[in-house]
Amino acid sequence: MKPPSIIVIGAGIGGIAAAAHLARRGLKVTVFEKNSGPGGRCGQFTRDGHHFDTGPTLFIMPLVYEAEFAALGASMHELLDLRRVDPTYDLVFDDGSQLALTSDLKSLQAQLESIEPGSYEGFLRYLDEGHRHYHLAMERLVNRDFRTASDFFALGNLPLLFQLKPLARHYRHMSAYFDEPRLKAAFTFQDVYMGLSPFEAPATFSMMPYTELAHGVWYPRGGMYQVVEALMTIAREAGVEFVFNAAVERIEVNGGRARGVALAGGHRFDADAVLANADLPYVYQRLLPEADLAEQLARKRFSCSVVSFFWGVDKPCPSLGPHTLFLADDYRGNFDSITHNLALPENPSLYIHAPARLDPSLAPPGQDTLIAIVPVSHLNDGGEQDGRDIRDRARQAVFNRLALLGITDLEAHLKFEVCYTPLSWRKRYNLMKGATHGLCHNLTQLGYFRPRNRHPRYGNLYFVGASTHPGTGVPTALVSARLAAERMVEEL
Ligand SMILES: Cc1cc2nc3c(=O)[nH]c(=O)nc-3n(C[C@H](O)[C@H](O)[C@H](O)COP(=O)(O)OP(=O)(O)OC[C@H]3O[C@@H](n4cnc5c(N)ncnc54)[C@H](O)[C@@H]3O)c2cc1C
Repeated sequence: MKPPSIIVIGAGIGGIAAAAHLARRGLKVTVFEKNSGPGGRCGQFTRDGHHFDTGPTLFIMPLVYEAEFAALGASMHELLDLRRVDPTYDLVFDDGSQLALTSDLKSLQAQLESIEPGSYEGFLRYLDEGHRHYHLAMERLVNRDFRTASDFFALGNLPLLFQLKPLARHYRHMSAYFDEPRLKAAFTFQDVYMGLSPFEAPATFSMMPYTELAHGVWYPRGGMYQVVEALMTIAREAGVEFVFNAAVERIEVNGGRARGVALAGGHRFDADAVLANADLPYVYQRLLPEADLAEQLARKRFSCSVVSFFWGVDKPCPSLGPHTLFLADDYRGNFDSITHNLALPENPSLYIHAPARLDPSLAPPGQDTLIAIVPVSHLNDGGEQDGRDIRDRARQAVFNRLALLGITDLEAHLKFEVCYTPLSWRKRYNLMKGATHGLCHNLTQLGYFRPRNRHPRYGNLYFVGASTHPGTGVPTALVSARLAAERMVEEL
C-alpha cells in the first residue's frame, strides 16, 4: 500500500521538523517553500565576509532542544557545536549604569546589591518562582496538545491558576521581589520575546529569566542558522523532498477535506493531508476560502514587530558584548507605545548582537558584524506606516544609545547596511501585520484559546508554528512540530 502523502507549506523551523517527524513514520512528505532557502524567520545571509542571522540570535531553553532533537532520533550535541554565553546579557540603562546578567552568582549578587541593597534575596526568591513556573508550564501547558475544551478545563488543571499566577501581571508582580525599576525591567524584558508587554504579560513568564540563568543561553558555532542546517540534514535523511521558490497560492478544499495545493503559476498537487507552517492567520486569510474564520483571526491580538539593522563594520567594537540590551527608563511608556499607539517610542529600548564575539569567523579579521533590533508596533490595518521614517528614527536611536558605551563614530565605519522593517517581515514570510512573533501570547490566546493545530472544518488540514500551540520561538516551534505530527499520524 502506498504511504499517505503530505504537503507541508513552508520550510520554517516548524515545517522542517514536522516534515522530518512525518517522514520518519513512513509518510511521503513534500515541502513547498516560497523563498529560495529554508529557515523562514530563522534565516541568514552573508555579505563581504560578514555573517548575519536575520531572526533568532538567542539559543534559549536548551533542554527543550535536546529533547526535541532526541525525538527526531538525533543528538543535538553531535549536530551543533554549542558554547554557553555568560553573561547572557549586558544591560545598559539610560543613566549609563550597567548590569551583566550572569550565572556567576557571586558577581550577580554584588551587582544587584549595588543597585538595590537587599535585592539578592528577592532575586533568589524570584528564581525559585521561575523554576516552579518553568517546570509546571512545560509539563502541563507547553508539551501537550489541547484538542478539546475538557483537556484544558479539567479539574486537575485548576491549581495551575494559583501555581502559575496567570492572572497576575508580570511587572506589577515584580514588586514582591524588587523596588528598583531597573531590576524589575532586568527580569521582565524577556516578555517581548512572546510579543508581549510585561505590563500585560502573565507572571507565569518568570520562567524565561529563570531558564536563561539556570539552563543558560547558548550559541552554536556558525550562528543560529546551524539549527536550520541540522534540521535539514535530519529531514533529508528521513526522505523529505523540499521544493524552493514554490509559493502556495491556495489550499484546495472540497467536501470537508483538504485535497492538495495550487502553486502560484497554476501547478496543482494532490495530497492526503496538508500541514501549513506559513503563519496561521495568513493561511486562513489568503489560502483558504472561509472569510468568517479569517476575520475572527484578524481581530485577535498580534505581537509587536521589529526594525532590524544588519551592519558590516570596518573596525571591531570590543566594548560591545555578544548580547547588549539598552533598557529605557520610560519602560512602561515604551511598551505602551508599541502595544497601543502603533508608533516607534521616543526613546526605544533596543538590543544589539555582536556574533563575532562568540565566533570570530562571523566577521572578517579586524572588522565587526553587528545586528541591532528595535522593537516597534506591528503594521496598522492598512499597513501604510511610513517605513522610512521609522527606520531612520530607529537607526538614530541605536547610534544615540551606543554613545553610552563610548561608541560615537559607528556611522562613519559602516561598510554597508541591510534593514528589515515591518513591511519586509510581512513580505518575506507572509507574516500578517508584519508581526514578527505572530499572534501574541496574552492569556486569551494561550493553551486551549490559541488556534489549534487542526482546522475546525477540514479534518486533514493541520498547522504548525508560532501562531499555533504552544507559541513563538525556535524551541517552541520544535514542540509544535512534534505535537502536530503526532496528531496527524494518529488521525490519518
Ligand atoms: C527578529 C526576530 C528575532 C527572534 N529571536 C528569537 C530568538 O532569539 N530565539 C528564539 O528561539 N526565537 C526567536 N524568534 C522567533 C523564531 O524565529 C520564530 O518563532 C520561529 O522561527 C518561527 O518558526 P515557524 O515554524 O513558525 O515558521 P516561520 O519561520 O514563519 O516559517 C514559515 C515559512 O513559510 C513560508 N511561507 C509563507 N507563506 C508561504 C506560501 N504561501 N507558500 C510557501 N511557503 C510559504 C515562509 O517563507 C517561511 O519560510 C525571533 C523572531 C524574529 C523575527
